[in-house]
Amino acid sequence: RQSTAAVSTVKKTIDDIGPECYDFSKTPEYLRLRQTIDMLEGLGVGNPYFCVHEGITRDTARIGGRDYISYTTYNYIGMSGDPVVAAAAKAAIDKYGTSVSASRLVSGEKPVHRELEMEIADFVGQEDSICFVGGHSTNETTIGHLFGPGDLILHDSLDHNSIVQGSIMSGARRRPFPHNDWQAADDILSEIRTEYRKVLLVIEGTYSMDGDFPDLPRFIEVKKKHKALLMIDEAHSSGVLGATGRGVVEHFGCNPRDVDLSMATLSKSFGSCGGYIAGSKELIEYMKYTTPGFVFSCGLPPGAAAGSLAALRLLKKEPERVYKLRANADLFLKLAKEKGINTGYAGGTGVVPVITGNSPHALMLSRALFERGINVQPILHPAVEEEKARLRFFINCMHNEEQIRYTVECVAEELTKLDPKYLQMTKLRG
Ligand code: PMP
Repeated sequence: RQSTAAVSTVKKTIDDIGPECYDFSKTPEYLRLRQTIDMLEGLGVGNPYFCVHEGITRDTARIGGRDYISYTTYNYIGMSGDPVVAAAAKAAIDKYGTSVSASRLVSGEKPVHRELEMEIADFVGQEDSICFVGGHSTNETTIGHLFGPGDLILHDSLDHNSIVQGSIMSGARRRPFPHNDWQAADDILSEIRTEYRKVLLVIEGTYSMDGDFPDLPRFIEVKKKHKALLMIDEAHSSGVLGATGRGVVEHFGCNPRDVDLSMATLSKSFGSCGGYIAGSKELIEYMKYTTPGFVFSCGLPPGAAAGSLAALRLLKKEPERVYKLRANADLFLKLAKEKGINTGYAGGTGVVPVITGNSPHALMLSRALFERGINVQPILHPAVEEEKARLRFFINCMHNEEQIRYTVECVAEELTKLDPKYLQMTKLRG
């Protein structure tokens, strides 16, 4: 009490508490959001968010009763909407219900949970795995739980929000390093590693805004040299990279056991919802008994678990889905580059950005393409830096050549309408 008096001499009364503290519509954060939405609507191109897709989004999406060629979802290898996956999910719902209605630790455990976890572990070459109800919460609760004060978390500057949130929650020291720069990570660790107990190095198998991926063998060298733990988020690389879709580890032919925490979401190539961590049996055992987002949370719904298991089995049986996806992405990228479209660092994955250089152009391009039957999401500041505003194309294995050729043609034409010099400028920049 004494120290409070020293800072502020006049004690506030309840009358000093303004509506910005108790009426959400008056809070500065709400007013800022409202201003952004008003600005978007003022541009006359409509609000690009919460667009309702009326059916399953595959190569096309039904919006407002019309079919559009769609590049908006990470249904990379067509598992969501696949009849085999859907049948497995329905059968599990019939057998176990729509919810397990409890934490698995107590009474929510169903046979399909362990079946899925064992098959995931086998697929990624780890001893065991643990599944969570959300991909975001997988990262947040895992990192937030396993690390704490006295530890260091070094993460790529473009790592997903869930990784950043988990790192903040952990209370460990958090240091982002420049994107994909293993040398910078090495330099930081050479300087400060010994000041910390556990060190976690976190990278992604494919970066979801840029469609590029890290030089994994180098990162493995760095982690070994500095006695760090390595975590890879393979959300956008599992089912996409590697000869059989096992992700960035397979792409580089690395030893899976050099990765301490192998993470991916079930919402992309596994056709449902949730996430997993695969690793050593000791790590997974510890996590199963102690991780807050697992212990104090309901188990994965039976339909989601069985759907993901069916998707995983289908992926093993039909690796051609992975080849088709990559062939589509390569074609898109090749055509875009020939036209002089700026695709940033994209290469070899299911994500291809088209960088417009500012948010209004990203919005207007998205709108113009929509009018020509193409559905693609703009990514605006602050999600990326203003000069890196873009459209993000998620390519999948169901797209065909005609759709891709038509799309790239339309993108080039509409970009030229927005800025007649765009294509030449990109060619000049190389
Ligand atoms: N990690 C990465 C790299 C992601 O892009 C995302 C979001 N798609 C997540 C984690 C969170 O996954 P989910 O959407 O399944 O919660």
